[in-house]
Amino acid sequence: MNTDHGYPAVRLHIAGEWCQGGAGRTAPVVNPATEETIGEVPLATVADLDRALEAADAGFACWRDTPIARRTDVLHTAADLLTARAAEVGRIMTLEQGKPLAEATGEARRVADTLRWHADDARRAYGRVIPSAPGTVLTVRREPVGPVAAFVPWNFPAGGPMRKISAALAAGCPIVLKASEETPATAAALVACFVEAGLPAGVLNLVFGDPAEISAHLIASPVIRLVAFTGSVPVGKQLAARAGAVMKPTLMELGGHAPVLVCADADPVQAARSAARAKFVNAGQVCTSPSRFLVHESHLDAFTDEFVRAAEAVVVGDGLAEGTIMGPLANERRLHAMESLTADAVARGAKIRTGGERLDRPGYFFAPTVLTDVPADARLMSEEPFGPLAPIVPFTDLDAALRVANGLPYGLAAYGFTDSAATAEHLAGRLEAGILSLNHCGGSVHEAPSGGVKDSGYGREGGPEALDAYLVTKRVSHLLTP
Ligand code: NAD
Repeated sequence: MNTDHGYPAVRLHIAGEWCQGGAGRTAPVVNPATEETIGEVPLATVADLDRALEAADAGFACWRDTPIARRTDVLHTAADLLTARAAEVGRIMTLEQGKPLAEATGEARRVADTLRWHADDARRAYGRVIPSAPGTVLTVRREPVGPVAAFVPWNFPAGGPMRKISAALAAGCPIVLKASEETPATAAALVACFVEAGLPAGVLNLVFGDPAEISAHLIASPVIRLVAFTGSVPVGKQLAARAGAVMKPTLMELGGHAPVLVCADADPVQAARSAARAKFVNAGQVCTSPSRFLVHESHLDAFTDEFVRAAEAVVVGDGLAEGTIMGPLANERRLHAMESLTADAVARGAKIRTGGERLDRPGYFFAPTVLTDVPADARLMSEEPFGPLAPIVPFTDLDAALRVANGLPYGLAAYGFTDSAATAEHLAGRLEAGILSLNHCGGSVHEAPSGGVKDSGYGREGGPEALDAYLVTKRVSHLLTP
């Protein structure tokens, strides 16, 4: 059922059925490009969560024993359905999150491939046979950990949910997913693909509601064996502590504040173009977005001028409009955060080279912004901006710049630009980050792991490592001749 906006009605998915929350409570879904309410998201009650837990428990018994070929087949069918629907899913995503349509459609296509990657990789979840005494077979096996509780945010309405769903299901684990109440229809569209592909009831449950209430209830349940979260560092720490108290493993994909080091031997113009392109993707609301630009003093002017040119060339508008490169921020909280971080930096002496304010039109639009002369004590230099702000600061000594880069509790992404192989290796060895890109701003790929160090979390998504969190290792020694 579609509303006038072309935004679908959203339901919870519990025990194989689409349903409203038991109490009939809903929250509005807002189009960030217009500030109009475009739909309602149903909110789950504790009784709804209990049904989801019961379904996941029963789903585990069925899904773990489903032959791997059948499991893979269902996941590939779901991926094909999603590929066929990418344009429709992209449109829903733009309506509820704001990113440009091409970016949204590309995300929908890409996550279908994420699913294929995990489905295929699960076929290689090998154990091993260890040489042992005669008459004894010593093996190591990898088994699904069990039902997963997963919590994902709004910045990648398809990417966030799919990373968790695909790894869990491929590994043989059922999942109770709480997707973002701000981008619920994209998550529901993904779930529909699995349902239509023939996934057994109870294996994939989708809920929305009060995030704190849902996470507290699910984590405490003995049914749940793994807690997987993507989001901010403070919430990640809360959930990890809660899970730790009941001895449950967690997978934590948290925020970052990625440094970009432009070294004395780099090409400042190429570096500025590459960094600016990455900076304004998804209006900067990406956990790996480059966000602290440390530039050798000899390149400061060339880098800044080119970066400003690139920022001013970004076409900002409704993601559905032709030619839009950057949409609005996803919600009003981010808009206020941009205003507050900018005002604080300026009050401490920073200069705005371009942007610096919200656009004078409805919607949560904030101009691509470049700041220079930003002092080290500006909040922008230590708080993850998660928006289109680019503070540029000079350095003279590379090791001092590395100390600044490593000086925050974050350790997710980092970027370096240099023409010297030796300097590149120095950066590769010294930058405290889980994801390092040299001479480009590389995005995530299915084949390689993503994840952080320090407060940015632990565990990896993507690559062969992606299944590790969802599998447990069991040692089995079998005496054949007792
Ligand atoms: P937030 O910390 O309130 O929420 C982040 C996400 O966590 C949301 O999806 C929210 O629903 C969920 N959440 C919040 N409290 C929860 C709880 N107790 N249990 C379970 N889930 C919970 O912040 P926000 O305003 O939505 O986003 C702001 C900040 O979050 C950003 O500045 C950024 O640092 C971080 N963030 C990070 C990522 C990422 O990919 N790492 C994504 C989105 C937001």
